[in-house]
Amino acid sequence: MNNNQFTADFQQLFGHPAQGLAIAPGRVNLIGEFTDYNLGYVLPCALNFSTQVLFKKRDDNQVIVYSNNYPGEQDSFAVDDTISQGDSQWGNYIRAVVYVLKKRGYPLGGIELLISSDVPQGAGLSSSAALEVSIAGALNQAFDLGIDTKSIALIGQQAENEFMHCQCGIMDQLISAQAAPGHALKIDCDNLSTEKVSIPSDLNLVIVNSNYPRKLVESEYNQRRLDCEGAAAKMQVSSLRQADLTMLESTKPVLTENEYKRAFHVLSENQRVIDTVNALANNDMSALRDLLAASHQSLRDNFEVTVPATDGLVDIISRALDGRGAVRMTGGGFGGAVICLCRDEEINTVKSAVEREYQAKFDLTADIFVCQAGTGLQVTEIA
Ligand code: ADP
Ligand code: MG
Repeated sequence: MNNNQFTADFQQLFGHPAQGLAIAPGRVNLIGEFTDYNLGYVLPCALNFSTQVLFKKRDDNQVIVYSNNYPGEQDSFAVDDTISQGDSQWGNYIRAVVYVLKKRGYPLGGIELLISSDVPQGAGLSSSAALEVSIAGALNQAFDLGIDTKSIALIGQQAENEFMHCQCGIMDQLISAQAAPGHALKIDCDNLSTEKVSIPSDLNLVIVNSNYPRKLVESEYNQRRLDCEGAAAKMQVSSLRQADLTMLESTKPVLTENEYKRAFHVLSENQRVIDTVNALANNDMSALRDLLAASHQSLRDNFEVTVPATDGLVDIISRALDGRGAVRMTGGGFGGAVICLCRDEEINTVKSAVEREYQAKFDLTADIFVCQAGTGLQVTEIA
């Protein structure tokens, strides 16, 4: 987005310039899948695709919001104790954040907002977290609320859980709020402590969305959670974070086959996150390749959340790269995207292999996004 055009759009809509700009990125999870609710490790990275929000405080209590991604549409509502869902699906994300801030007792008034984003929506890159975090960042600045980035993430998550009724974890909002430029973030989901992990500057994040139509995701997701909880209970620990592979093997006789397989995935995946942090520090492509391949295999065989389309994409890309890159599925599974880490000269190898083989095999068209590690929430005043 051309920033001059964006500020001119605000001026035209509201009749005066904005007072500030908040920017928050989308994200991809490099490794650590289905470990979050088992209080393990995840390793997300912010993307250089982001959501921008121009804002200006009002003298009354009206929130008025436009999005350049939904031209001609507007949402407006009063900041009071009766904020509820409106007719605009996208407007509800803004209502959700305002609702949570009000509920937490922050003194808010009216505000004018204009959104613009190049984060693809519904492609697994968490455009919703980018939106929540940028809106919370704008309100924080406009009303001088003094909220730290961790709390901004928690507010975004609460907005999504309580108002949008989507039971996401904290990962998406935390990386969007806290990412340092050029770094992934290792998050310990047990206590939300974080560690910055430098991404080698020559590494691209190529994200390929399978566009496979997701089905039965919620019931399958809930069943996986129950299997993990069941395995932990039988090992007499409060979560799989307190378990290890030795405990798992000795408890195997009393576990169902699924409890054993799900827990085996989670315990081995936690170790793969730790090992990936080391591989990134050493810019060790062959270690990255093995770790992402093992993660995918475990998600396919132990956690059983892949589908032929995502297995197929991983197969197409890894054959084309022949060791010169790392690839696995990323996100909630049952479709969704795969992530590939590779150097500049391999981007076209990945693109052309997907274009040549994927549609022919699966009768679906993949979307390919070439990204680099981005920066977390930034808020600036406009002079
Ligand atoms: P994901 O987070 O994977 O992109 P979600 O379904 O969780 O997918 O969130 C996408 C929704 O978030 C969109 O349908 C829209 O309602 C809202 N949204 C995201 N980005 C924007 C934007 N730039 N402007 C308005 N709404 C947006
Ligand atoms: Mg989302």
